[in-house]
Amino acid sequence: MSKKLFIETLGCQMNARDTEHIIAELNAHNDYTTTDILEEADLIIINTCSVRERPVAKLFSELGQFKKVKKKDAKIGVCGCTASHLGRDIIKRAPYVDFVVGARNVSKISKAVETKGAVEIDINHDETAYAFSEYRKALYRASVNISLGCDKQCTYCIVPATRGEEISISPEFIINEIKKAVENGAKEIFLLGQNVNNYGKYFSNGNGAIVQEKKQKHNFTKLLQEISQVEGVERIRFTSPHPLHMDDEFIEEFVSNPKICKSIHAPLQSGSTKVLKDMKRGYTKEWFLKICEKIRALVPEVRITTDIIVGFPGETDEDFADTIDVIKKVKFDQIFNFKYSPRPNTQAEIMDNQIDDKIATKRLTEVIDLHKIHQSEQMQDNVGKTMKVFFEDLKSNGEIFGFSDNYCQVFVSGSEELLGQIRNVKIISNTRTSLKGKII
Ligand code: SF4
Repeated sequence: MSKKLFIETLGCQMNARDTEHIIAELNAHNDYTTTDILEEADLIIINTCSVRERPVAKLFSELGQFKKVKKKDAKIGVCGCTASHLGRDIIKRAPYVDFVVGARNVSKISKAVETKGAVEIDINHDETAYAFSEYRKALYRASVNISLGCDKQCTYCIVPATRGEEISISPEFIINEIKKAVENGAKEIFLLGQNVNNYGKYFSNGNGAIVQEKKQKHNFTKLLQEISQVEGVERIRFTSPHPLHMDDEFIEEFVSNPKICKSIHAPLQSGSTKVLKDMKRGYTKEWFLKICEKIRALVPEVRITTDIIVGFPGETDEDFADTIDVIKKVKFDQIFNFKYSPRPNTQAEIMDNQIDDKIATKRLTEVIDLHKIHQSEQMQDNVGKTMKVFFEDLKSNGEIFGFSDNYCQVFVSGSEELLGQIRNVKIISNTRTSLKGKII
């Protein structure tokens, strides 16, 4: 009888891919299969996120819950970004935790599970050439890491301290992984990295050192072209590109490559050039607007999503008005909006002029309300259009859903045989966040 693994995942797409790797390794090397029933698990893992304070607080309340309901001899492990930055302190605060394995150390999970008190948190451990066993949650879409870590120093961000320095995975390794995924049924490839469009700048020298390519032989555009040549790949998506690296070559490839889905994430963070400078984002309000105008002009049906932080230290009413101005000009299709959350050991944590929480909450509400208006307008504009939809899942009410090329969620009535197919759909109605249609 194989042992049971219960795993909870917090945070981003990169964490979700790490969870797939954890499940794959523990299945292949430690004979675990997954369960959704916490009480029957022999091993409980929480894959954590540190991007804001709330997920960290959630970790310890979850651990307490696990301890209460777990089987007598079940083990508990903590993985992910909070594991990287808290390390052994997690075991000090929760002595019933058996092991801690940080992001970037997932290849060590099999050994750590068998080693009471193991703490593996080297944030620059090089896993770029490690061939993880195979497991994927989604059948038709395959997430593929193309780089690990980040070479930026945004003053509010903890990621460089939890996921380490930026390093690209070799194109050969990526192409092989994609070919395997296509053999297993994937048609859509979802490329992952903190700054995907900075790909090819740093590689491992094979001896654990990260080297910057003097004469860059590889970049994101070349990689996208190579992936497009892989037989069976029908769609390519990616996250997260950095606005700083959205140069003409990148935009040209995004526009002209028919396999690249026409939705793009452009994390703005703030609309104020002064705040962007304090955040060390490296671009200005005007520069960001020009990029979005160019992309919208070249691809009218494109959907642009973004991240916005309100209440960053020193943010004045005028600065916030700039953020609102950019939102009004770009009319984002989706905004992931957050109140600034001080992160340990970041430059912004010790900045003066920390913003009162009431003001930050008021600004967040204003962003959310304005965005809801734009979302309803844009989704309504899709009614009557015909969209190519890739059907990937079934709802409990029997409806089938998938995503259009520009990443609108579309529901139709139909049978399971639609799953994995790309079909033309006439859009007949909308909500603020999804569309309903009819296969034509
Ligand atoms: S680019 Fe900035 S916000 Fe993004 S992961 Fe790197 S440091 Fe964090």
